[in-house]
Amino acid sequence: MKSTEVAGREAEDIKNLVSKIIRGLGSPEPPLNLEHVRELLRLDRHYYRSTDTGLINEFISRMRIGTKQFLARPTLLIDAIRKFELSALWIPDSRRIMVDKAVPKLKWRWNETHEIGHSIIPWHAPFLHGDTQTTLNLKCHEIIEAEANYAAGQLLFLQDRFIDDSRSLPATIESVKQLAADYGNTITSTLWRFIEETSEKPMVAIVSQHPKRPKPDFDPLQPCKYFIPSPTFRHHFGKVTELQLFAGIKDYCSYRSGGHLGNGEVRLADDRGAFHIFEFESFFNRYEALTLGSYKSQCRTAVAVL
Ligand SMILES: [Zn+2]
Repeated sequence: MKSTEVAGREAEDIKNLVSKIIRGLGSPEPPLNLEHVRELLRLDRHYYRSTDTGLINEFISRMRIGTKQFLARPTLLIDAIRKFELSALWIPDSRRIMVDKAVPKLKWRWNETHEIGHSIIPWHAPFLHGDTQTTLNLKCHEIIEAEANYAAGQLLFLQDRFIDDSRSLPATIESVKQLAADYGNTITSTLWRFIEETSEKPMVAIVSQHPKRPKPDFDPLQPCKYFIPSPTFRHHFGKVTELQLFAGIKDYCSYRSGGHLGNGEVRLADDRGAFHIFEFESFFNRYEALTLGSYKSQCRTAVAVL
């Protein structure tokens, strides 16, 4: 299934909503603490759930949050002054925030942030309380879900911070694994984000079953669970199908039951019919096979044999 693109005005609005939250948290280091996000949203629900990005309102929100925190626990203000972080007016109250000692399952982390995404996107509000079955057709539901996922990706990967970090690394599965560890997110969601935002050159990611060890429910007509094109891939390689990609992957993959499954060159045609070479690499995490394909070069046209 090809991922639904979030673009244009909606993408801009979601980016702005998320960057307000990141600024409100004082631009934290990864991994993002979701307890802190929830606490910030609780303290000023109204401001963080509006597309308002005016500086004055941001300042008023900081004051409101600072006041609420001060009233709840006056020593917080003293902490803030001590740490010279008064400008942020946001010191997470670790006594109030119940930090879950158990390591949260990575998948829950994504699901929870997806829900936070719905809750901060103002135009999702009418869909969240009504009978979604009747108010949303399938396409509309797909868009709403894609937008919540987009917000989750923006938030969990701290926007520009992840873009800077990933651009400094080569486009390999190893880099994706490293970034997943740094940001405390799943390898799949990290791969997704890596493709969506970071690359100028055409790239594609595929999440599928093990190409050489299909399970009984494998559907050969829809072999990819997710087919994630980068913006430039979407633009220039719009006719490439998941069947072509999967056939290319199957070609070089080994039968190994875990870890690196192999790498190889895959030829793909652009929208004008010219062939290009992509370097593909696959990894099996024992549940899903993750593949990263990045553009290498244009195919040389027929080479005369002398
Ligand atoms: Zn949802």
